[in-house]
Amino acid sequence: MAFEGLADRLQNTIQRIKGKGKVTEQDVKEMTREVRLALLEADVNFKVVKDFVKRVKERAVGQEVMESLTPGQQVIKVVKEELTNLMGGDESKIAVAKRPPTVIMMVGLQGAGKTTTTGKLANHLRKKHNRKPMLVAADVYRPAAINQLQTLGKQLDLPVYAKGTDANPVDIANEAIAEAKENHYDYVIIDTAGRLHIDGELMGELQQIKDNVQPDEIFLVVDAMTGQDAVNVAESFDEQLEVSGVVLTKLDGDTRGGAALSIKAVTGKPIKFAGMGEKLDQLEAFHPERMASRILG
Ligand code: GDP
Repeated sequence: MAFEGLADRLQNTIQRIKGKGKVTEQDVKEMTREVRLALLEADVNFKVVKDFVKRVKERAVGQEVMESLTPGQQVIKVVKEELTNLMGGDESKIAVAKRPPTVIMMVGLQGAGKTTTTGKLANHLRKKHNRKPMLVAADVYRPAAINQLQTLGKQLDLPVYAKGTDANPVDIANEAIAEAKENHYDYVIIDTAGRLHIDGELMGELQQIKDNVQPDEIFLVVDAMTGQDAVNVAESFDEQLEVSGVVLTKLDGDTRGGAALSIKAVTGKPIKFAGMGEKLDQLEAFHPERMASRILG
């Protein structure tokens, strides 16, 4: 379960401070020390942890007294608010182009869950937003990736635009968008190539698709289980492509939460969705406040 390890690790500390009728500076110090260690063990970025603890300390020590809460509860409220801010504050939405179709470009490393997420996102747009999405197979290097997307399209009963492995990804994307326009599809979701590692060639190709297609959203798909590696990947992709949001996959298996808690603070880009399983309906809008509640109980 997402954040389970971190939540377990923090439970005693939270219970201890929650019960206090009076919270001293020493209590706050001890609590933040525990929180700091727990976050570091959860593989949260070092600088993010440092800033977080500093903010909590400042607010928890100097906070206004509210009559409805005990001092202990107020300290936990501060921690919860700061955790929520860390993960992005308000939930984010998906762009809607003034003139359809809205174009979403999916980018990420191989194995992160990009193709699965492309299908999940299409399913989400149709079910939750009543949209007509079309999928585009623009990973021309791996026939398996094209087949995978076509299989997903069949499962979802949604069209997949594919031209095999000989066509140029930019042409594929442009032709798919033209076809979507003609057939009144309002979202086009492009599954781009992924590699095992970031390299100049991949980035060059993605940049070219971006420049030509001018997508309304670029979603970077990263694997939550890879912790700080996911954060580094996000930083690199964002530097080169300026992504608009992150989809964090495999959060269902990530008990620590290091990537979830670091990505927004490090890259400035919000996590828009979380993958919570392999099935096509297991994509959730990412709600920072709900995630903070999971951690603090
Ligand atoms: P790609 O290479 O980035 O396109 O990755 P795939 O979409 O092929 O996914 C790689 C593996 O991760 C597959 O076995 C997926 O079923 C699995 N996967 C993707 N998203 C999730 C998720 O949110 N949770 C879990 N548990 N598995 C996922």
